[in-house]
Amino acid sequence: MTADAEMAADDVVIDDSARCPCGSGDIFGGCCGPLLQGAPASTAERLMRSRFTAFGLRDAAHLVRTWHGSTRPRTVDFEPDMEWRRLVILDRHAGGPFDRDGIVEFEAFWRQGTQRGALHERSRFVREDRQWYYVDGDVS
Ligand SMILES: [Zn+2]
Repeated sequence: MTADAEMAADDVVIDDSARCPCGSGDIFGGCCGPLLQGAPASTAERLMRSRFTAFGLRDAAHLVRTWHGSTRPRTVDFEPDMEWRRLVILDRHAGGPFDRDGIVEFEAFWRQGTQRGALHERSRFVREDRQWYYVDGDVS
């Protein structure tokens, strides 16, 4: 079995008319859905949201595709019982449609078994060839 086949077996499917997991208040088909299908994100925040959604849906392809080449890991692994529950955007700096870089600070709430917690990160993004990419982030 290839890594891709394992990934596919693990895939979580979500309906286009369901609420988007990123918490934008939009439906999945009008928010992160198209981005996960390969549409470019207009802003760094939208890319950040789609990456949060991709972690929840175990969409490794989207995460790898939107990771900048300078920092991109060869594979993205998911912990099987890790659930990403909620995303809160705390701050953003630049990252607009005409910017070259941007920063998005967020808190992502997770649950794993009986454990709960939150990841707090200030992430850096760059825009190249009209595509936003995640570069890296400071976790605190
Ligand atoms: Zn979304």
